[in-house]
Amino acid sequence: MRTVTKSSKLANVCYDIRGPVLDKARQMEEEGQKIIKLNIGNIAAFGLMPPDEIVQDMIRNLPDAAGYTDSKGLFAPRKAVVHYCQEKGIRGVAVDDVYLGNGASELIVMALNAMLDNGDEVLLPAPDYPLYTAAVALSGGNPVHYVCDESSDWFPDIADIKAKITPRTKAIVVINPNNPTGALYPESLLREIVALARQHQLIILADEIYDKTLYDGQVHTSIAALSDDVLTLTFNGLSKNYRSCGYRAGWMVVSGDKRHALDYITGLNMLASMRLCANTPGQLAIQTALGGYQSIKDLVAPGGRLARQRDLAYELLTQIPGVSVVKPKAALYMFPRLDPKIYPIEDDQQFAYELLAEEKVLIVQGTGFNWKSPDHFRLVFLPNTDDLRDAVGRIERFLGTYRKR
Ligand code: PLP
Repeated sequence: MRTVTKSSKLANVCYDIRGPVLDKARQMEEEGQKIIKLNIGNIAAFGLMPPDEIVQDMIRNLPDAAGYTDSKGLFAPRKAVVHYCQEKGIRGVAVDDVYLGNGASELIVMALNAMLDNGDEVLLPAPDYPLYTAAVALSGGNPVHYVCDESSDWFPDIADIKAKITPRTKAIVVINPNNPTGALYPESLLREIVALARQHQLIILADEIYDKTLYDGQVHTSIAALSDDVLTLTFNGLSKNYRSCGYRAGWMVVSGDKRHALDYITGLNMLASMRLCANTPGQLAIQTALGGYQSIKDLVAPGGRLARQRDLAYELLTQIPGVSVVKPKAALYMFPRLDPKIYPIEDDQQFAYELLAEEKVLIVQGTGFNWKSPDHFRLVFLPNTDDLRDAVGRIERFLGTYRKR
């Protein structure tokens, strides 16, 4: 029998958030062990349910939502996205510029598949949300990582971006608010990125899926609102701001000067048609969500559940010797640093594996986010404060034994 191997297109594709350490966790759970999962931003799994209005509308819409829709999506939810763009100051967006997807993930992969020829380069943040690196590689492109600077609130290093632009650079990915660092970028920095994109004719891929998950009264600026000319694809959806990852409801908006991108847009339309359409109940939820007043506001306001959990996780982690953390301004994650002088980790996947085996706490190692040195990990602060205390206590105990090795 011929051995069945995976396609060579997958040679450089990796997605460690759901990688080998998770397989081990699954096995431990099957054996009856209880794992504390700090590995994934699955909000509803922590009892943070979607707004009731969305759930009720989903139930009501279900009997009439069994058919395919137009491949870009239903008119009304796309119109709701157009209004959302207007609220955020993104100009010149019509219904035809909006694509609905089974989560933003599907549209991110689609946008890169339609864009890249073999060897084309895409600038991506390091650390990144690894779907981007994987999708660039799967599309035949070369992921080129620019550094986000931990000593500067994890902001993208503009000099590093400039140094990495080549004649083959086609696009730059900006994840703001950021996963895994929790950074929120100021307008001045976004303007610098827009200027570089304009100068080098780069497409901007703007991931804004956490744009309402903001702490301390922060305000989010959409990078697409800062230019009328630079071609920008903005990704967003209900997964995080509306706590409904499982409804798989996301959107992509094409803005900027589209006159020079008609061929690319034809490619996007073709890929959208090939997958027929996004799930119809999820599309209908978009309309309800964006039209309503409910989102994640109360949870992130001072004293709200997510704000309290962020504060607690930060306080507990920074008390551990050799652990430092930039306090997140947004999103659901922290990306703590383990001082290599105190924790000489050589293989951070092994580190995550041992933490899981010894303390039953599941995190994701920093290299899973294309961070080069094995000295960081990502943690989600979604568990309630009691569970967080327990989890960080276990991490502290594990690190204590690690120091003595
Ligand atoms: N973009 C970022 C930065 C994310 O963190 C995630 C999920 O964690 C996604 C996109 C995926 O979103 P969706 O559930 O809409 O596919």
